Amino acid sequence: MTLRYSTDIVIFGGGVAGLWLLNRLINDGYHPLLFETGALGGGQTLASQGIIHGGLKYALSGTLTGAANVIAGMPAYWRSCLSGKGDLDLTGVPILCDHYYMWSDGSLRSKLKTFLGSKSLVGRVEAIARSDYPEFFSHESAEGTLYKLPDFVVDTDELLKRLASTVTNNLFALDEGNYQFTKNPANGKCHLLISCKDKLIEIAAEQFVFCAGEGNAKFIEQTGIESAAAQIRPLHMVYLKQVNLPQLFVHCVGDDFSLTPKLTVTSHTDIHGQTVWYLGGDLAEKGVNKDSETQIAAAQHLLAKLFPWIDTSEASWGSFLINRAEANIKNNYRPDDAFIASESNMIFAWPTKLTLTPSMADKVVNTIKEESTTAIDSSDALNTLRELLDKPEAASAYWN
Ligand SMILES: Cc1cc2nc3c(=O)[nH]c(=O)nc-3n(C[C@H](O)[C@H](O)[C@H](O)COP(=O)(O)OP(=O)(O)OC[C@H]3O[C@@H](n4cnc5c(N)ncnc54)[C@H](O)[C@@H]3O)c2cc1C
Repeated sequence: MTLRYSTDIVIFGGGVAGLWLLNRLINDGYHPLLFETGALGGGQTLASQGIIHGGLKYALSGTLTGAANVIAGMPAYWRSCLSGKGDLDLTGVPILCDHYYMWSDGSLRSKLKTFLGSKSLVGRVEAIARSDYPEFFSHESAEGTLYKLPDFVVDTDELLKRLASTVTNNLFALDEGNYQFTKNPANGKCHLLISCKDKLIEIAAEQFVFCAGEGNAKFIEQTGIESAAAQIRPLHMVYLKQVNLPQLFVHCVGDDFSLTPKLTVTSHTDIHGQTVWYLGGDLAEKGVNKDSETQIAAAQHLLAKLFPWIDTSEASWGSFLINRAEANIKNNYRPDDAFIASESNMIFAWPTKLTLTPSMADKVVNTIKEESTTAIDSSDALNTLRELLDKPEAASAYWN
């Protein structure tokens, strides 16, 4: 026997995108269900460095487009949520670093200074007087210039917990292979079929929203949607852990005004209380074809060159490969805003960056409203699914 239910919105994917959207939709009076096939945040979100960017990287490349202005507004948007005054209440989510820094080595100073003095960046980047350098950069052998950016770093683990805590009743763990989509020949709309514990459940939703990161590629194939395409960009991230490492949050800019700093460092704490330095940037992009040992050696070399005064001899090191998942808008171009594609009763969504998640949620919510999606009480579906499916687990950080 097939159990049949109707609901307004079904979301696939419990990373920051799916969980943020779920919260927004519940606040707007909808009754969405969210299905996750792995662990919450276990895709890109927990692997991210948690930097809420103001888009300086776009400015560095000289492309201050309209989309770059969207990202410029994101730090303020997040700050309003973090202080309980925004669309979502994120009070209690820790900010790991209230200001992000940019460090340029001595040789770049004059070129960068001229650029940073340009109109488009006034008020966005502040050169710091040497007498005001934080302790880490005050070392006598530190040669370079330090800038303060309006960017900041959130604790992604706590962010995910916060987003999940208010919507736990709407979250369901689904096994890969236990579901499929069917199309209603009369109107072309998709339905979801879940098989579980000898039961077949059919869910008709006004809208299916796919926020599954890298998993969106498979959904595009399964649903046959033509207006969306996916791409991935691989990264080889490195981390080191050591008890007495100072907290460090910095982009180290390279010899050109490239989109990617040669090294991006954020600091975290592992389950034993050790400081973790998490290393990305050009190091991660260029290291994708290196084995772990070679990539770690490259990171050690770079750190020693940039910060010769720091002693990491007691550190334990690790590295891992992870893909950034984005919409393929035109020939693997890097999108600079969140992207959504809507077709029939399906919406495919990629925030592109953690920072741009609110922009993605706005785009999806606007589309849902434009389509006049009506709120449908889904208590019957929720009750049945709760009996048959578990809650998804929370993922843990790579360094744990
Ligand atoms: C190494 C790294 C560092 C980054 N650093 C930053 C940063 O500092 N600042 C910034 O703004 N952005 C950063 N980003 C980008 C940012 O992390 C992502 O844009 C964002 O996390 C994407 O969130 P998401 O929810 O769309 O995807 P994900 O976090 O990947 O979540 C997708 C979820 O969908 C689930 N899923 C997959 N398939 C299915 C399926 N079939 N059914 C149901 N669920 C499914 C997955 O298990 C996962 O939980 C970084 C990305 C990486 C990889």
